[in-house]
Amino acid sequence: MTMNHTTNGHNGSHGQKGHQGNGYRNLLSEHLLESFEIDLDYEQDDHAIEAAIRSILEGVGEDPEREGLLRTPNRVARMYKELLEGYHINPEKLVNDALFDVEYQEMIVVRDIEYYSLCEHHMLPFIGKAHVAYVPNDKVIGLSKIPRVVDMFARRLQVQERMTQQIADFLMQVLHPQGVAVVCEGVHMCSMMRGVKKAHSSMTTSAMMGIFRENEKTRAEFMGHIGRSSSSVF
Ligand SMILES: [Zn+2]
Repeated sequence: MTMNHTTNGHNGSHGQKGHQGNGYRNLLSEHLLESFEIDLDYEQDDHAIEAAIRSILEGVGEDPEREGLLRTPNRVARMYKELLEGYHINPEKLVNDALFDVEYQEMIVVRDIEYYSLCEHHMLPFIGKAHVAYVPNDKVIGLSKIPRVVDMFARRLQVQERMTQQIADFLMQVLHPQGVAVVCEGVHMCSMMRGVKKAHSSMTTSAMMGIFRENEKTRAEFMGHIGRSSSSVF
């Protein structure tokens, strides 16, 4: 991951005035949790997953009782808990300690954020890099939190287009910035491993909001920043 501050001499301080107070404790209402499909209370049903994996093993003609497969249903259940944890991350905990008042209105770019997701059509991985930028109004979020926002939406059953939009929507809701831009590059195992194999069929999706949508110059500045990143997704 590479972090760029496109500043003119403000690197580091960002004019931070310290933590936000109670005004942000109720940042995300129930409605917002709903709109970002976050369920803090749901506990994954490991038994259901284990039973399903055993059925798949039998269905493909394998013997679920052979040694190498004996613990596979349990491993897969535990794996999904990790790969799909994005539905259960508390966004308030994620952002609240890291929002700062600023008098800073230049573009902030965090690029080359690796993400790992699962396509909802095949439950196969798609992986790649996200590039995120925003222009603050009066608050910024700690830079280390942006990859965690990306994770929150990547660790779900996804399509890349929706993941890209959700990252942008979330930052708009939390920061009320002048604009947010998100570009995601991804390679999809379901297209690489199946059918006509296209080894490097990478896909790029973008979401431009606010000033990034309205102002061509701002958009071009952002594209210039991420254009300097490596073109390879791996
Ligand atoms: Zn797929």
